[in-house]
Amino acid sequence: MPTEQIVTPEKTYTRRVHLCQSITGPLRNWKPKDWKNALRWINKGDGSKYASADELKGAFLAELAKGHEVVPIGDCDNFDYKKGCQGHDIETTPPADESAKK
Ligand SMILES: [Zn+2]
Repeated sequence: MPTEQIVTPEKTYTRRVHLCQSITGPLRNWKPKDWKNALRWINKGDGSKYASADELKGAFLAELAKGHEVVPIGDCDNFDYKKGCQGHDIETTPPADESAKK
C-alpha cells in the first residue's frame, strides 16, 4: 500500500492510501481482450473469481449505475467513490523543532 509523509505545522504523520480501480476508464477504453486479461487480477468482493469477461464488465456497469467512478482495492473504510481512498493516518509525531525546544 503506498504511503506518503505529511508534514504540517502541528504534526508529522504517515498517511496510507489504498489503491483504487477506475470504473469509468475500463468501460471507456478496454477492448474485449483487456476484460479477459483483467479476469486474472480482479476478484469479487468475497475473493472469488469472475466466471467470464461479460460477468466482470457487468459488475463494472453495476458500480457505475451506483454512481461509483472508482472502487477500492483492499479493505478501505475511508473511501470516496469518485476520488478514491481519502487516506489513513497511521502515525503522528510532534514536529522535530517543537520537541527540540523543550
Ligand atoms: Zn483506504
